[in-house]
Amino acid sequence: MPADSIRRVSLSSVTLPLRNAISDAKVFTGRQKPMTEVVFLFAEISTEQDQHGLGFSYSKRAGGPAQYAHAAEVAEGLIGEDPNDIGRLITKLQWAGASVGRSGLATQALAAFDVALYDLKAKRAGLPLAKLLGAHRDSVRTYNTSGGFLNASLDEVKERATRSLDEGIGAVKIKVGLPDNAEDLRRVRGVREHIGDDVPLMVDANQQWDRTTALRMGRRLEEFDLTWIEEPLDAYDVEGHARLTRTLDTPIATGEMLASVAEHERLIDGAACDIIQPDAPRVGGITQFLRLMTLADQRGLDLAPHFAMEIHLHLAACYPRETWVEHFDWLDPLFNERLETKDGRMLVPDRPGLGVTMSEQARAWTTESISFGQA
Ligand SMILES: [Mg+2]
Repeated sequence: MPADSIRRVSLSSVTLPLRNAISDAKVFTGRQKPMTEVVFLFAEISTEQDQHGLGFSYSKRAGGPAQYAHAAEVAEGLIGEDPNDIGRLITKLQWAGASVGRSGLATQALAAFDVALYDLKAKRAGLPLAKLLGAHRDSVRTYNTSGGFLNASLDEVKERATRSLDEGIGAVKIKVGLPDNAEDLRRVRGVREHIGDDVPLMVDANQQWDRTTALRMGRRLEEFDLTWIEEPLDAYDVEGHARLTRTLDTPIATGEMLASVAEHERLIDGAACDIIQPDAPRVGGITQFLRLMTLADQRGLDLAPHFAMEIHLHLAACYPRETWVEHFDWLDPLFNERLETKDGRMLVPDRPGLGVTMSEQARAWTTESISFGQA
């Protein structure tokens, strides 16, 4: 008999509205509409001994209802189980939904459970998640993304960069990939001159260049001493990324769009980037992310996880090499706590687990919820 067992599982679908409609290069090439909201799948797990875990997954533009529906189909399988056996429980849920595969939506639905089980385990141990997993550091270098979108003018981007640096965020990433390459270069030059040569600067093309453009732009961007060029090409173009990685001095970063460890394995095996950017909710949670970290470290890659800093701060703290975490203030209204930034780094909170609790605002933005097990 397990020492403790899962008594109740609750799921919520929460729609987070964004203050402004957000555009990256995918909007300027006509492939997507400006983003106005992000849909979150929250999982809350409680045990007989009154231990609690909170996890989440998310989707942008489409897929939120499907993640929620799949999670609701399989959640019952956790009731009565020992919450410590995370690997076994995730495998059980994978088999429950085996016909929809081990990547994409199905995997992302399971991520919310996986993160909640890790949060619960760390809270039971009285440890921040990073400490439970085994941390290499208690703070991680951080950069701002939310101020550098293409819907913002160059002046607005500069102003947001200054504000980020004043807030202790140590670096700035801006979006590129506009139809007019000269305009991209003008914005990069403007921001580089504004922040000076000592502040790390990254650019993100959100997959919108073809191979020729990426190589030409990559060469023209070398003079700005960028920390990385992100998603220069289609996320699944392993060969194209590998050529850029070999050819350019500026490091190449990619991986945020990939939806399983197996998809990342192709990038890693293909030597297709210098910096890998996995996203724990997108690849199936912490269990899968830990597998990925092992593979990436083995091959000498640097790590800069995508989005969801509330989860990734803990994971990035556990990678053997110095890492980056992406600062996005978008999720702040969902949680009662704030992550601290100081001297260019984000500090791992000393609260147990992830160190976040759902806010009243997140409850108010809940559009659907369902519970399994006993009240
Ligand atoms: Mg990106």
